[in-house]
Amino acid sequence: HHPDRSTVWVGPAGHQVPIGPDTFTFIAGPCAVESKEQTAEASRMAQSAGATIIRGGAFKPRTSPYAFQGLGLAGLEILAGIREATGLPVVTEVVDPRDVPMVAEHVDMLQVGTRNMANFGLLQAVGEAGKPVLLKRGMTATIEEWLMAAEYIAQRGNLDVVLCERGIRTFEPATRNTLDISAVPVVQAASHLPVIVDPSHASGRKDLVVPLSRAAIAVGADGVIVDVHPDPETALCDGPQALLGAELRELAQAVRRLPEVV
Ligand code: PEP
Repeated sequence: HHPDRSTVWVGPAGHQVPIGPDTFTFIAGPCAVESKEQTAEASRMAQSAGATIIRGGAFKPRTSPYAFQGLGLAGLEILAGIREATGLPVVTEVVDPRDVPMVAEHVDMLQVGTRNMANFGLLQAVGEAGKPVLLKRGMTATIEEWLMAAEYIAQRGNLDVVLCERGIRTFEPATRNTLDISAVPVVQAASHLPVIVDPSHASGRKDLVVPLSRAAIAVGADGVIVDVHPDPETALCDGPQALLGAELRELAQAVRRLPEVV
């Protein structure tokens, strides 16, 4: 029932950042909050490359229960400090409906990750949190299932939902997932919600982040969300996909030259 595509505003009044059809939003930061110093440095890199929203995971739902699971509340406190220091809004993942109020107190946007896209209790809880939601596509979800997950949030009164295509499971092992770039225009034709792309989690490879970001720009996505890390070799989570130095500069240039590209 929305003839026009929507813009979702993220951040406190007076400092809100738009995600929607009239702009291209560059979100960047560490995959996981590992320490105050690492998060501050990754955020500084992101901000100086032109990112206008900082990402960072305090709760990390990992495939292995033995892998780093995130710093939890201590991570949220670090993110709240980053928000203060950079003046930029922050997005972070929430994995448990009971944590939603606590997470919403510390950051500007709540992320529902691929593994929780069909966690209906969580979707309902973020629908009541009063903060915009970044809803990642389930790695085995159809576009219709993804849009229905967004309806669970909207049904609770929250229409500030941004969809994120982050790759789906296919038979191809060269990349961790397969970025379904066609999902962007398909969703834009079916829904008024903004759609962004996560080339980092889609590919799992830093050498593909810039080309896939260019693809996102070309296909009309409303933004990208990418991982950066000051020392990817020592990263506790997803180091091989984190940008540093040359790739980050290349990405920043692609985003800055956007009007020419489009
Ligand atoms: C993330 O963005 O930190 C993340 C884990 O992404 P996804 O849920 O897409 O794997």
